[in-house]
Amino acid sequence: MQLLDGTSCSQQIRQEIAEQVTKIRENGERAPHLAAVLVGNDGASQNYVGMKVKDCDEVGFNSTVVRMEETATEQELLDKVADLNTDDAIDGFIVQVPLPEHMDENKVILAIDPRKDVDGFCPENVGNMSLGLPTFLSATPNGIMELFRRYNIETEGKHCVVLGRSNIVGTPMAILLSRNTNPGNATVTIAHSRTKNLKELCRSADILIVAIGKTEFVTEDMVKEGAVVVDVGQTRVPDSTKKNGFRNVGDVDFENVKDKCSYITYVTGGVGPMTRASLLQNTLKAHQRR
Ligand code: NAP
Repeated sequence: MQLLDGTSCSQQIRQEIAEQVTKIRENGERAPHLAAVLVGNDGASQNYVGMKVKDCDEVGFNSTVVRMEETATEQELLDKVADLNTDDAIDGFIVQVPLPEHMDENKVILAIDPRKDVDGFCPENVGNMSLGLPTFLSATPNGIMELFRRYNIETEGKHCVVLGRSNIVGTPMAILLSRNTNPGNATVTIAHSRTKNLKELCRSADILIVAIGKTEFVTEDMVKEGAVVVDVGQTRVPDSTKKNGFRNVGDVDFENVKDKCSYITYVTGGVGPMTRASLLQNTLKAHQRR
């Protein structure tokens, strides 16, 4: 078994980006600038945004965090999105999800200018991705593709099961893997909560990608010998032994599954850092496009 080490891979990517930022600065241009809108006080969201800011610092990007109260109205958020759309100093921005319940996430995503949608969530960018046109690829699936690329994981002709069909992970993941690209050219099955015979289906996968948000859901009997397993799940569970009082747990029972796999990611050093690296790549792309 070999670990797909997203921490070291993302470190490499950050270094490559930092070198490009140095060149941009040497040409007398301003550095790429990422903004993140953070609504409310959700601990996990604050943590994610904090890490994104730290990544920006490391590669030499400018970053701005726009904080809004939990009680802000949807219209106030839409107004903020409109400001960011037209702010020439910002190359790209994200609105950290989940949003408070009184806000419609889809409405907010639709309000983002696709040219600044570095999360790759807007219909125009998802459409371009589906057609194989240049675009901002959804950060998490693209991070996983990058991991496959850098570890030379063979995907062509493989049966890939994607467990979960969300708009931000499962669905774009399935699209990217099934396209005529390298990595890609896989035969993909998308599974979800209504899928029958899930255990048998997962066991037929050469590559199993799990994004359902159910801790340690995938057990050893669901994995084929020699499979590649990617665990996207990241759920906070209370843990009094940790300084911050919690730990992140994946969707795969790592300890019992790992020895069956040829490659496997671990939480949180697998997909999480690759997602953040993808966001930096998209922000650099947004800067270059302008
Ligand atoms: P989501 O929007 O809640 O979607 C979950 C998907 O899992 C749905 O398609 C759901 O099916 C399916 N599902 C739920 N229970 C299932 C079951 N028992 N059997 C089969 N399918 C089941 O979640 P998400 O946003 O994709 O996130 C999934 C996980 O990945 C979460 O833990 C999240 O925190 C994590 N995540 C991590 C990163 C990262 O960078 N590491 C990025 C994004 C998300 P239905 O459609 O039928 O309801």
